[in-house]
Amino acid sequence: MLKGKNAVVTGSTSGIGLAYAKAFAKEGANVMINGLGDADEIEKTRASLEAEFGVKALYSSANMLKPDEIAEMIATAEKELGSVDILVNNAGIQFVSPIDEFPAEKWDAIIGINLTSAFHTIKAALPGMKEKGWGRIINTASAHALVASPYKSAYVAAKHGIAGLTKTVALEAAEKGITVNAIAPGYVWTPLVEAQIADTAKSRGITEEEVKENVLLAAQPTKEFVTVEQVAAMAVFLCSDAASSMTGTILPIDGGWTAH
Ligand code: NAD
Repeated sequence: MLKGKNAVVTGSTSGIGLAYAKAFAKEGANVMINGLGDADEIEKTRASLEAEFGVKALYSSANMLKPDEIAEMIATAEKELGSVDILVNNAGIQFVSPIDEFPAEKWDAIIGINLTSAFHTIKAALPGMKEKGWGRIINTASAHALVASPYKSAYVAAKHGIAGLTKTVALEAAEKGITVNAIAPGYVWTPLVEAQIADTAKSRGITEEEVKENVLLAAQPTKEFVTVEQVAAMAVFLCSDAASSMTGTILPIDGGWTAH
């Protein structure tokens, strides 16, 4: 379905981002992956995308806190792949702490990686999409783009921000064949969620098992973690012709969380 299309997915060396890259490659799109991690592991991931799906797969080490590196990533994708037709803003980090103890540098990093990087990627990729008259921009928001939880001030602010950015760019690009949507997952079992369990336990003074049962899955009526494949399937749908009239939406995949 996506043969001939080129996708850039930020933060795709693990978790949800890697699932997007695999799902696009499975549909025949060339992909540029991005993110941090062990160089050998990343090269293995890149090579396996090419081997398994017969597409071109590139890797950009651009740090989403560095606007110059972000611009360079998009320029390289355009040069090496020919275009950026699908842009997924997915890189993200989390930090859990009461606001009165929240380190200012963590606030800046979360706003920078989870929100401002999307401004820079979109700014760089949109002209090429307009020229072609086709584009898909997908932002990984979160249930925290729609509702809040305590101790996640920066994350909730960044995710509400990306919802606003999604709607704004959707309006600006609406007549150009470009759709802009956000996917808002509830708790998905990935390294990011695993890593915050210990911090949440500390902040709330409860055990890690209690965090899983009573904090994370308490919010999710299905009592099950969302899978990365379920999130990626929505991204593939958003790239289809069937979704060409969907733009400016924030789409929850959250086991009923935001129905509360
Ligand atoms: P993850 O930790 O598995 O992946 C995060 C990715 O971002 C990694 O590839 C990492 O290398 C990359 N990254 C981090 N800092 C970066 C930087 N400075 N520059 C470039 N890349 C950087 O986490 P995940 O759970 O797959 O999260 C992916 C996205 O999904 C995030 O935006 C997150 O907020 C969102 N999300 C996750 C959940 C969940 O429950 N896991 C729920 C809702 C939304």
